[in-house]
Amino acid sequence: MKYSKFGIITTKNIPNDAEVISHKLMLRTGMIKKLASGLYTWMPLGFRVLKKIENIIRQEMEHVNALEILMPAIQPSELWKESGRWDKYGPELLRLIDRHEREFCFGPTHEEIITDIARKDIKSYKQLPIIYYQIQTKFRDEIRPRFGVMRAREFLMKDAYSFHENEDCLNKTYEIMFQAYMSCFNKIGLEYKVVNANNGQIGGSESHEFHVIAENGEDELIFSDSSDYAINSELFTEPPKEGDDSPDGAGKVKIRRGIEVGHIFKLGNNYSNSMKASISNIDNKNINMVMGCYGIGVSRIAAAAIEQSNDDKGIIWPKSISPFDISIISIGYSKNEKIKKYTDDLYEILKNKGVDVLMDDRDISPGNMFSDSDLIGIPFKIIIGKQFLEKHTIEFKERIHNKTHVIQEDPTTPSKKTINNILKLIQN
Ligand code: ATP
Ligand code: MG
Repeated sequence: MKYSKFGIITTKNIPNDAEVISHKLMLRTGMIKKLASGLYTWMPLGFRVLKKIENIIRQEMEHVNALEILMPAIQPSELWKESGRWDKYGPELLRLIDRHEREFCFGPTHEEIITDIARKDIKSYKQLPIIYYQIQTKFRDEIRPRFGVMRAREFLMKDAYSFHENEDCLNKTYEIMFQAYMSCFNKIGLEYKVVNANNGQIGGSESHEFHVIAENGEDELIFSDSSDYAINSELFTEPPKEGDDSPDGAGKVKIRRGIEVGHIFKLGNNYSNSMKASISNIDNKNINMVMGCYGIGVSRIAAAAIEQSNDDKGIIWPKSISPFDISIISIGYSKNEKIKKYTDDLYEILKNKGVDVLMDDRDISPGNMFSDSDLIGIPFKIIIGKQFLEKHTIEFKERIHNKTHVIQEDPTTPSKKTINNILKLIQN
């Protein structure tokens, strides 16, 4: 992608309601644009990040044989009345009335819809276990939308639902999904913690939350310094303090703040009982299915990653979800034929090798090109300038440590050796 054609519009004017660094940086880089409270447009730069997060999650879901579907965002009230949540959910549920005076809601989550599908399609234990998932827009009329896309009203979620013959089978799938979630967050490259959690509006018996560790996190995580014990402080009426004896009796309490990016639940028979989702089991008996559900805040992850990794120059993307793998900064692109040719060649070759390249072809000062590349968080840059003309060298710079590698080049066009060198440095 050429910078001049990509429409990255960075700005210094940040509204006062942007309290946390991720929100500020997402607005400054033009990744997102506010439409109204809790409603954001993902602009081209931001959308690339969102797609990369989605792809990592999708790969992990395919790996555990979850089946991708896409359910409507608008849901009929009848199903919510069957489950009992129409009355329970409260004002966070956005309710709508169509031209025929029928009641609907904009889905904050999709248990009712998937249970309705399962009770129609699944008749026998032989079809189980089965996992469905979707990556889809949710709406929750949050009382206090804030921190940009971190607590938005409309946001992107990956939600998965599993159906089982019995608790044993649910427990196995729950463990598989647990591992898949860890794999997602490891692949993205986030520092996170898993804690025992509250089932909240979704219901069920057991649940775990996945939290990205960050000072601005809304949740307080309590864990032991010497065991696996880890729990969301909202489960206590009086949470222990740092240094207290750990509630599990092992070691001392440590406290960190976290941003909830994933939440998995054992739902048991909650929905299958109320909505009568039954199958015939191995003994030919009619039983209600056992369910699990598994959510990831796709759009929230983008903000959480920034919250965890930034400096005074801007965002430092984990390589896995950076909008571009590398930026090429070409100093003198429009003025010098040799530089232009070399830059164009390098850009084409890297692109053909599958590298996401952002080539800065703007006629602006090198300083501004560097600072924009750093602001939008691209992990690597290649600098082609005076040194290329004088000594046939180009520079490869790492965003994170500001480490520089000088690469000796052929005088006219990128050599095979250089390309391999660059690919190796990117992949390291
Ligand atoms: P929270 O406690 O942050 O309100 P939740 O427990 O209500 O979240 P879940 O119902 O578990 O959320 O939804 C699954 C995931 O969706 C969450 O782990 C979170 O990452 C994401 N999510 C929930 N609410 C929002 C929101 N308002 N904006 C962005 N992402 C959200
Ligand atoms: Mg939750």
